[in-house]
Amino acid sequence: MLRFVLLAILVICAVILGKWYLRSVRRKRLLATPFPAAWEKIIERNVPLYTRLPGSLKHQLQGHIQVLLAENHFEGCGGLEMTDEIRVTIAAQAGILLLNRRPRYYPGLDSILVYPSTFLSKNIQYLGDHAYIERPSAHLGESWRRGVLVLAWDTVKRGALDVRDGQNVVFHEFAHQLDQENGATDGAPVLERGTLYAPWARILTKEYERLQNTVRGGLETVMDEYGATNPAEFFAVATETFFEKPHAMKRKHPELYEVLKSYYKLNPVEWGG
Ligand SMILES: [Zn+2]
Repeated sequence: MLRFVLLAILVICAVILGKWYLRSVRRKRLLATPFPAAWEKIIERNVPLYTRLPGSLKHQLQGHIQVLLAENHFEGCGGLEMTDEIRVTIAAQAGILLLNRRPRYYPGLDSILVYPSTFLSKNIQYLGDHAYIERPSAHLGESWRRGVLVLAWDTVKRGALDVRDGQNVVFHEFAHQLDQENGATDGAPVLERGTLYAPWARILTKEYERLQNTVRGGLETVMDEYGATNPAEFFAVATETFFEKPHAMKRKHPELYEVLKSYYKLNPVEWGG
């Protein structure tokens, strides 16, 4: 019996290792594949942030885009026909969040659904006394824990084209994916070392409460006030602000900027603009 259990464990380990090895080989091949010139044109046109990146990051990003496109299923919904323009524009922005890090390529994700515009999805509200109601509400993007991310194409394009308004639905929803990698949606993604969690929690909690107070006081905020909804939305909105309003964030929220800079291993204030 013991022998049988050991054999079964060995077979499972071999299968896992085999899959991991094949995936590594496939990724290496994708990272080394020349980037299609037509795709680069799409990115230069639709994702102006790309044109500000140093050459080494552009090259790294091109590799990440190839992996993300190969490993995820993109589907047009609500009558939208899927095109390379849509896939590449989304993957380029999702790839920016992986630059300079040991990329895990969003392991919880396998499908990206894209609607032409705002889409309706069901919100379940608890009415009390074991009663629930499903209400359709309009959304621009959603990140599900069960491997699906949903985006509105017009919002994706608008968010990418304006690189300084702090609104970018792709950064927002893929930041949720990073947050969800450890199984919880709580504004705390997987960090490199255990010792980083305490400063992360201290700074993000302080800044989240500060944003809540500022919003309650009706004062102007650097970050979108939607970040005051809960800690998960705070991290997603902080990510949008970090990449699109880095100067303002660094000036007004230096600790938050530094902690995100060390998490993303990027320093967007150096990218000009
Ligand atoms: Zn969100």
